Amino acid sequence: MIIDGKQVASKIIKEIKDKISSLQTKPSISVILVGNNLASQTYVKMKKKACENTDINFKLINLDDKISQEDLIKKIKSLNEDKTVDSILIQMPLPKHIDPTKVINSIDPSKDVDGFHPVNVGKLLIGDETGFVSCTPLGIKSLLEESNIDIKGKHVVIVGRSNIVGKPLFALLIQKAKGANATVTVVHSETKNLKEITKTADILVAAIGIAKFIKKDMIKKNAVVIDVGINHEVQKDGTKKIFGDVDFENVSKIASFITPVPGGVGPMTIAMLLSNILKSHIQKK
Ligand code: NDP
Repeated sequence: MIIDGKQVASKIIKEIKDKISSLQTKPSISVILVGNNLASQTYVKMKKKACENTDINFKLINLDDKISQEDLIKKIKSLNEDKTVDSILIQMPLPKHIDPTKVINSIDPSKDVDGFHPVNVGKLLIGDETGFVSCTPLGIKSLLEESNIDIKGKHVVIVGRSNIVGKPLFALLIQKAKGANATVTVVHSETKNLKEITKTADILVAAIGIAKFIKKDMIKKNAVVIDVGINHEVQKDGTKKIFGDVDFENVSKIASFITPVPGGVGPMTIAMLLSNILKSHIQKK
């Protein structure tokens, strides 16, 4: 069965919109975009549209790509102090001369709706739900719950250990909490016998960044397959096509549930950003 992430995300977005309409003040987010990277501009536009559709005040701060790290951090600090700003998001990647860790660490953790600040990562690890969880892992957990897939006691194998997907998803799914309690294994490029491990997964999450990496012979029959990957490939006719990290055509024949790309995890990531912005607003009241 194909999990329709778009449909689940629109249901969640509608709920968020309804909640916002009952509030006396509207949530707000300031997004910092440094330079004019085309992909980043597209992502920012998507976030802007989603915020505007839900009545979240969206402010874009577009900074020159030559800005110094010091000036960027100064700008973030001024947003930290601005009481009219609930949430701050720095669109990644940043230009090479800027250290993303230093920039992330300068955001007030209570406004860090991407959940990248070490305080929020720490809160996630110890199960303190007052923090912010990175949007993609949160979206995956929500997608599983909304699809009535119980992961309690199941073996989840996550392929990929990035700070924005693999690691936070691991921390989220091992919690002694509703919608979690899974047994989680994380594998990566140095893992030996990868296929033997992925074949033991009840739920396999692919967050690798290599188109169609997960093949049919890497999963067991009736496994749930969640595809996080977004890989742009140029076709023979020059057009661009998006592929996930899973060989969807073949894997879908033996998986019990599978997310498509596009239309799976992607829309959930946006929905969770809106949810985090709302949470940030409510926490500040
Ligand atoms: P990263 O490049 O940061 O991490 C990729 C991970 O995959 C690394 O841990 C790497 O291992 C592992 N890996 C690479 N090659 C192999 C291999 N041959 N065997 C096993 N593991 C391997 O990527 P991200 O986590 O940021 O993103 C992953 C994918 O998800 C990308 O396609 C990205 O575009 C997409 N994405 C989608 C989002 C959405 O909203 N749908 C949001 C975020 C990302 P190692 O650590 O050893 O290098």
